[in-house]
Amino acid sequence: MTDTSANTPTASANFIAKIIQDDLDNGRVTQVVTRFPPEPNGYLHVGHAKSVCLNFGLAEQFGGRCNLRFDDTNPEKESQEFINAIKDDITWLGFQWAGEIHYASDYFDQLHDWAVNLIESGNAYVCDLSADQAREYRGTLTEAGKPSPYRERTVEENLDLFARMRAGEFDEGAKVLRAKIDMASPNMNMRDPILYRIRKVHHHQTGDKWCIYPNYDFTHGQSDAIEGVTHSICTLEFEDHRPLYEWFLANLPVPAQPRQYEFGRLNLDYTVTSKRKLKALVDEKVVAGWDDPRMPTISGMRRRGFTPRSVRNFCDMIGVSRSDGMVDVAMLEHALRDDLNKNAPRAMCVINPLKVVIENLPADYLEMVTADYHHELDLGARDMPFTREIFIDQDDFKEEYSKKFKKKFTPGKRIRLRHSYVIEATSYDKDEQGNVVLVRANLIEGTLGTNPADGDNPKGVVHWVSASHGIPAELRLYERLFTHASPDKTDGDFMEYVNTDSLKVVTAWVEPALANVGPESNFQFEREGYYVSDRYDHAADKPVFNLTIGLREDKSLTEA
Ligand code: ATP
Ligand code: MG
Repeated sequence: MTDTSANTPTASANFIAKIIQDDLDNGRVTQVVTRFPPEPNGYLHVGHAKSVCLNFGLAEQFGGRCNLRFDDTNPEKESQEFINAIKDDITWLGFQWAGEIHYASDYFDQLHDWAVNLIESGNAYVCDLSADQAREYRGTLTEAGKPSPYRERTVEENLDLFARMRAGEFDEGAKVLRAKIDMASPNMNMRDPILYRIRKVHHHQTGDKWCIYPNYDFTHGQSDAIEGVTHSICTLEFEDHRPLYEWFLANLPVPAQPRQYEFGRLNLDYTVTSKRKLKALVDEKVVAGWDDPRMPTISGMRRRGFTPRSVRNFCDMIGVSRSDGMVDVAMLEHALRDDLNKNAPRAMCVINPLKVVIENLPADYLEMVTADYHHELDLGARDMPFTREIFIDQDDFKEEYSKKFKKKFTPGKRIRLRHSYVIEATSYDKDEQGNVVLVRANLIEGTLGTNPADGDNPKGVVHWVSASHGIPAELRLYERLFTHASPDKTDGDFMEYVNTDSLKVVTAWVEPALANVGPESNFQFEREGYYVSDRYDHAADKPVFNLTIGLREDKSLTEA
């Protein structure tokens, strides 16, 4: 069920896989069914990627299926935009959900009928306490709650009131439907939890059909049961909800008995992974949108130049455990760099150009030199125009030779132009500020692909772009979005730790082949870093590349 082009092993031996194996071995289940249940109230982030890889990965590993179910019980905060983005993200990661997409709202009729069942069996009642009163009655962790004065309403009265709630007779907040469980339970979730609220809002799937909506707890387990989910895998904060999940399954005529298992959330340093906070970054225009390349959203990472394989490898590396932990963002960067190092084509881009005039070539000299895109993989080749005037990086030229700079270009010394000839510097010009602005050189004949015949071999190899045929490109250089390792775990507001200098835009020179690549093409710009052509803005007449990550571990996302 997985696109093998992303060919990554996912969800190998983790504790949930062991549980599933046991269930298959002892016959509790014959086919594994999992589900990924996002609420469409924002874009998916890197934490969701862990859950996606786990749920789809387990289904794949055990030859089962994984449903995509939108958990859409909060219509005010949800939208079709988010639904579409979530579908795109899952597909991009290389997973395919089983059959049609499901919506919890598909089950609103059934859930309503089951709410009526609970009333009929004396297990639910309509309560008129205000939110403040209900909080008071609920008690605390150390103190039992008190029964609501409405708890002993008769079945008939409850049926009548619930029908009138549904018919729109009451205002929002005037009444709720609650389960009748145990106001003294040490588990607060069991103290007569709310099942339905009145909300007179339009729903993106069901329109204006409903003015009462079930809450998460009353929806989730029953949706799992309807879909025949065998293993309902969620994050640890739902551990305390499990007794309630099981109470509904035990007290309703559901068609199956799914089981809930919890695992630890992914937290990454220098990163916020809460949809609410990510939404604030978007709403307050700190970033350009949910898919800004600085965002830890899947679509932001995609635009930044992450590959599906790098994200899946990362999820594999961090594993799945029973506790929440903080993962070093360097692990994510490692997974990314490792994949790009192995698989990204190489190309040439000069960011800080210094013009070199090769004086023993005619003014109109043009030779196409062929260069492989990768030194190990067969990724094809391109022709690069080699001309009399070229750009090299400013830092690759030094006015004076020294041992420290023996690989650099200096007057009287030679350098190899990558994929091209050896040249020797003769003289240079400086501007009034003392910056070297032009270097003159001679080409050493017969050095395309071989060393000079006179044995005076160059020590260094530099990247270059033809000055007359190269193309100016916009480079967007990104840094970390936060200056604090735990921006949302300090006493202050996480917004205080936004790196206000996280995007720099510069113009660079790229070889002509780079103008013609499609969007989302990953490259290693030799000796510069990993870049990707922008998903939306890159065009042949205006190339735009995003910095994905620096070349080395120590030059991580924080440095260009
Ligand atoms: P957020 O906390 O960002 O608002 P959420 O839990 O409300 O996220 P959902 O759309 O309900 O978001 O999540 C869908 C699934 O993804 C759930 O099963 C949830 O447990 C899981 N998930 C969300 N965040 C993480 C995370 N950081 N690590 C692992 N799984 C996560
Ligand atoms: Mg949630």
